[in-house]
Amino acid sequence: MQKIPFNKPYITGTEGDYLVEVLQSGRLSGNGSFTRKCQQWFTSRYGLSGSLLTSSGTDALEMCALLSGVGPGDEVIMPSFTFVSTANAFLLRGATIRFADTQASHPNLDPVATEALITSRTRAIVVVHYAGVACDMDAFLALAEKHNLILIEDAAHAIEASYKGRPLGSIGQLAAFSFHETKNITCGEGGLLAVNDPSLMARAEVLWEKGTNRAAFRRGEVQKYEWHDLGSSFLMSELQAAMLWAQIEVIDEIQRKRIEVWNTYLELLRPGADSGYFKLPYVPEFASLNGHLFYLECNNSEERNRLIVHLASHGIAAVFHYLPLHSSPYFSKHYNGPSFPNTDRFSSCILRLPLYADLSIEECGRIVKSVLDFYQ
Ligand SMILES: *Cc1c(COP(=O)(O)O)cnc(C)c1O
Repeated sequence: MQKIPFNKPYITGTEGDYLVEVLQSGRLSGNGSFTRKCQQWFTSRYGLSGSLLTSSGTDALEMCALLSGVGPGDEVIMPSFTFVSTANAFLLRGATIRFADTQASHPNLDPVATEALITSRTRAIVVVHYAGVACDMDAFLALAEKHNLILIEDAAHAIEASYKGRPLGSIGQLAAFSFHETKNITCGEGGLLAVNDPSLMARAEVLWEKGTNRAAFRRGEVQKYEWHDLGSSFLMSELQAAMLWAQIEVIDEIQRKRIEVWNTYLELLRPGADSGYFKLPYVPEFASLNGHLFYLECNNSEERNRLIVHLASHGIAAVFHYLPLHSSPYFSKHYNGPSFPNTDRFSSCILRLPLYADLSIEECGRIVKSVLDFYQ
């Protein structure tokens, strides 16, 4: 029986050629021609003020935190149902994290729960577009405007997805994408900072290059480069950028295949949902699909865990997802606030099925059959 992994990075075949091109150029460090090509592509495709490739999505989030200027005494609201990097980035700046619950219908941040947490100390809201499904951005934009807050999008799942036709990552002042191996396109480890407030772009470029104006120096705009601001080495090497460019060149094909898998799951699993075995993902009208991940919502954690074991015994790797950050070993020491019923339910009940561009329709059929057999 052929094993079906949870994820398999899609290798286009041109990555090697571009990597050799970089090796032969003798210029391996960051901010070279592949970096600029990738950045220009994202900036024009999503209508951004500017963008910078980073060595991870985590780095892009850390840049968001630095650029937002938050520090001790400032509060940042975000979902508890997210990856640790969303929270770490702001805690590293000394800000206070205020976690909020997700919506009941979807693991995205609830705007009503968010508004209830806003105080005079709130500086920023970080939304996470879970599974590439847009958060209710009109509601968050209205909150940000009313309370003069910075709105940041953790768009790590959300490449090529949109909200009412607007690309995700282009709506908040700042956004972070990820090109980790498990994301739709990858260069191993990598990320992108998207800047939508033009007044932040010059500073972003300085923070990116260790707090120096080296990027301006490389363009010949200044005679020497100097230390101007706080910063770090956030940029990715040309080797990663070369691989990323190979992926960008076939992004339409990758997206078409992933969305086809997603829709196949939805169609084949519908009878099981109609029989009340599990729930299928809810996608609001305003959100487009990007085929990032497909999940089922089981009835409880015990059932979900038995289904994982059942699928594994049929050679199928299905996995759970985020453990709530508010009750994590690290954060629970600092937390004695309310519990988050929706977050806890999604964390206990979500099961992610294998999803990658090369997953065949036959394999989807085999996976769905195993799921339905478990319930029947
Ligand atoms: C993947 C991911 C990140 C971090 O990206 P890396 O590139 O792995 O550093 C951050 N937030 C979310 C929601 C993610 O899924």
